[in-house]
Parts: sequence; C-alpha cells; structure tokens
Amino acid sequence: MGSMITPQPGIMEIALYQGGKSEIAGRSDVLKLSSNENPLGPPPSAIAAITAAATETHRYPSTDHAGLRAAISDVYGLEADRVICGVGSDEVLQFICQAFTGPGDEIIHTEHGFSMYPILAHMAGATPVQVAEVDRQVSVDNILAAVTERTRVVMLTNPGNPTGTIIPESEIERLADGLPKGVILVLDCAYIEYAAGHDGGEALARSRENVIMTRTFSKLYGLGGLRIGFGYGPKALIDVMTRIRQPYNLSVVQLVAAEAAALDLEWAKTSVEMNASERARLTCGLRQQGIACDDSHTNFVLARFADEGEAAAMETAFQAAGILVRKVGGYGFPEGLRITVGRPEDNDRVLDAVAKFKDAS
Ligand SMILES: *Cc1c(COP(=O)(O)O)cnc(C)c1O
Repeated sequence: MGSMITPQPGIMEIALYQGGKSEIAGRSDVLKLSSNENPLGPPPSAIAAITAAATETHRYPSTDHAGLRAAISDVYGLEADRVICGVGSDEVLQFICQAFTGPGDEIIHTEHGFSMYPILAHMAGATPVQVAEVDRQVSVDNILAAVTERTRVVMLTNPGNPTGTIIPESEIERLADGLPKGVILVLDCAYIEYAAGHDGGEALARSRENVIMTRTFSKLYGLGGLRIGFGYGPKALIDVMTRIRQPYNLSVVQLVAAEAAALDLEWAKTSVEMNASERARLTCGLRQQGIACDDSHTNFVLARFADEGEAAAMETAFQAAGILVRKVGGYGFPEGLRITVGRPEDNDRVLDAVAKFKDAS
C-alpha cells in the first residue's frame, strides 16, 4: 500500500472472518455440520418463488421491502414500520454499529459471542470490549460492570453461539433496566425459533426506546446462501439505520425467497420439530460416550472433550468419516467442537463416528 494512503481507523485491526469448512478433498459424500444450516435445505416454497422471479431479474428490486416487511409483520406480529431488512442480519448489525458508533466509542460483546461483532465494531472505528461469561452462560452482572461513559452498544447473542445456552427474559430485562438510556441493547436472535417458549426479547424491543432485535433467514429458514435478515426496534432508531441502508441492498430474488419462506409456517414447524427431537437424541448420545455438552436451545450442540488434543483427534476422525464440524478454538473453546443438528440419518453418522473413535482410544 502506498505510504500516502491510510485506511480509516480500526480497519487494519480486523482479523478476517473464518467460515465453516464445506469440502473434504476427494470426497463426494460430505456431511456438512459446520455452519448451523437447515439440514432439510431451502424450503420448496422459496425455491418456487426464486424460479418464478428469475424472469423479473432485469427489474430493479423494491427499495422499501414492503412485501417482505408485510410478511414479517403478518407472521410475527411485528409492526412493519419498525422492521428493517438487510443482507443477512450481519448487515443489520453493521447498520447499528455504523449509525450509532465511531472512534472512541465502545461496543460490548460477551466472551463467546459471535465473531462478527469485533469485526463490525472495527469497521465503524469503534472499540470492541469483551466481557467474560460464567460457565458458558452470559452474565448480566459482568456486562453491566463493563459499561463506561464510552459504551454505545451492547451485543447479546441469545441463545448463544457457540454455547447454545440461553438466558431468561427476566435477565434480559434486568440488563435493559441496568443500562444507561443512551446505550443500545442489541438482541441477536439468530436461533430464537429453536428456543421453545422464549420470545427473544421481542416484547422489550417493542416497549423500550433503546432495544433492537435481529433475526435471520439463514438458519431455520434454510436461506443462508441468499443472505437475508431483519431488525426490529423503535421506529426512531430504525429510521436512522434506514438512511445508511443502500436502497437496493436486497435483490428481487432475495426478497421473494424470504417472503415465501416467512409465510411457510408448515415448513418452519417441521424444521423446528425435527431439530428438537434430534437435538435431544444427539445430546444424549454424546453424553453416553462421556462427552460433555450443555442443553442446547439452538440447532447445534457444543461438544466439549477432555482437552484440545482430544477435540483435534475427534475432528480428524469426523473428517475421515466425511463429516465436517466446526472447531471453536477461536471462540474460546479449544476443547470444543460445534456440531450442527442434522437429519436423523446424519446424526446416526455422527454418533457412529463418535462411538468408533471412543472404542479406538
Ligand atoms: C448465523 C448467525 C447470524 C446470522 O447471520 P446472517 O448474516 O443473518 O447469515 C447472526 N448471529 C449469530 C450469532 C449467528 O450465529
């Protein structure tokens, strides 16, 4: 880079994001359980909408996302004028960081929170501040203790990734109550559909002036490859974020696919139910082999091995069986492997590989 050209503050602090692996050299039967994707694939309703929209791709998409916001409003009962759609929820989180933080400001995230948060903070020139969790659970007390006069945003993943744990709504409310009014609390609810009985803080995002919830079509809705997410919060904050949203950030194809998926209640139900029963079976099967895991409220399980060496050996054994899981050393769990819950036959393959590994060691 020429010496006269200097990037904006923070940008050179960014360590590039590492996605889940998707290939194993020389294998065609790879079972990808490394990125928390829906093992059933995209909903057929979304595929049909994408196919039908193909002939309309010479047209610019809508700039206001009215159709998709109306569908989100119908299905979730969220007011359409308080919804903003983005290129994945990652882009919605980026709007928040860019619109409300800059150099000198702090963005708090928890120890095992999503690895995109520090990247997004640095993109805005702000400083990410990491707060310790307690026994793989978010600690509201630790977050509140980390707040300074520079804090602008608190990012909370609930349920957590890669922990899979959840904190109750009463704790989120205590966090919201304890934050200064000028600090935005972001509830990243990427996995909330899998957490039975939790609203993810939706009621708080409706009633408070400083709470925003984000959701995604990448996990339950099986559309990670298309990149669609949304945020819901106070109209005043959503209006600010809309100013920095590119008018055509979502394509014709993204919009129709997400709309079809949102309205496909049957498909969502099938996916949630399969996940719930298979998650219980996978968790139980791992524990029977002496592998520790917390109860998960997501579509993955964090398996904790004796140490980093055993986790690495298990990962090698999985690869030999054609199975890709996620190493989570970068998330603070060198002894862990994050395994997406698959279809019944997928989880049989996982448990079979684990049993063989344990027998051999
Ligand atoms: C997968 C995930 C998201 C969703 O990201 P998209 O940009 O919507 O694909 C957000 N937060 C967490 C914690 C995730 O694991």
